[in-house]
Amino acid sequence: MRPFSHADAGTFADAAAALDRRTSAIAGGTDLVPAIKDGTAAPDRIVNLKTIPGADAIHWDPRAGLRIGALATLADVAAHPAVRRRAPILAEAAGGAATPQIRNVATIAGNLCQRRRWIVDGGPLYVLKGGSHPTFGEAGEGLDVSRGTRVCVSDPATALVALGAWVRVLSANRSRVLPVAHLPDGLRVGELIAEVLAPPAPPGARGAYEKLTVRKGWDFAVASVAVQAVLARGVVRISRVILGGVAGKPWECPGAEAILAGARLDASVAARAGEAAVDDCPALSRSTYRRAVVPALVRRAILRLR
Ligand SMILES: Cc1cc2nc3c(=O)[nH]c(=O)nc-3n(C[C@H](O)[C@H](O)[C@H](O)COP(=O)(O)OP(=O)(O)OC[C@H]3O[C@@H](n4cnc5c(N)ncnc54)[C@H](O)[C@@H]3O)c2cc1C
Repeated sequence: MRPFSHADAGTFADAAAALDRRTSAIAGGTDLVPAIKDGTAAPDRIVNLKTIPGADAIHWDPRAGLRIGALATLADVAAHPAVRRRAPILAEAAGGAATPQIRNVATIAGNLCQRRRWIVDGGPLYVLKGGSHPTFGEAGEGLDVSRGTRVCVSDPATALVALGAWVRVLSANRSRVLPVAHLPDGLRVGELIAEVLAPPAPPGARGAYEKLTVRKGWDFAVASVAVQAVLARGVVRISRVILGGVAGKPWECPGAEAILAGARLDASVAARAGEAAVDDCPALSRSTYRRAVVPALVRRAILRLR
């Protein structure tokens, strides 16, 4: 591991002012430290965000919705009563990510900014370890890495996109908001996420999160889906169907959403929406197994909304 210097931040503005291409922010360190160890990140300096007072608070406001501090851990997000009541798919997604040990230190903002992972068609169903390039054992085990794709593996990102959530981004002298759907590419050097903002769900809103993993614990999704819908007298008025683990970002499925619009939720509608979802995602054409599991995950999630 290359040596680097380390400084504790007192505010997001100070931390952001210290960032450049050679300086990384660190939160829980569960993604950055392995990246430094495997050589896919090599910062000269690290700025620790965990010393920023109050940056892990979670608040609910009936008009503004949920405000989740960037430093809130996945365990805090999953267990918080307001998240469980107002945004259950986020609680489900955060609570099903990684292991209890990792969830106790991994933060929501670090999760949204974690490296994309490689999947290789015809290779292991689980994601490869290397974030930026497939440097690891698996690449040397006869896999054709030219058939690889980098995918977003954040479970919370998939749920937050379905909820229409935003992040508040701070730099040394500026604040702006950005849809979670634009992360992490939408962040500029010198910018940090200060909080995650999820608007209040309208009356009649329901959601479900489904994730398939090879192992039950501490595993990235082979594929996942977050479905959030508003129902009135049993009829779907609005819906968002977002796939995770299949593309470089959480992937919206307009074909599946069109099938749900105005429909009553039954097995046939759920099955048709599942088939449509797989056609909505171009990256899936590269992976036959993921193509096979997505319809089942989408169908299962939709049937849970009834
Ligand atoms: C074994 C294992 C299994 C896992 N399984 C899952 C899983 O199933 N689902 C899932 O979603 N994730 C999974 N993960 C990923 C894990 O959730 C992330 O590593 C973690 O959430 C990252 O958060 P952190 O606070 O540790 O980030 P760090 O490692 O501290 O930082 C990660 C990146 O985010 C940047 N960053 C941190 N905070 C901010 C901020 N406020 N603003 C801007 N940039 C910031 C850092 O500079 C760095 O680039 C797994 C990880 C491991 C090791």
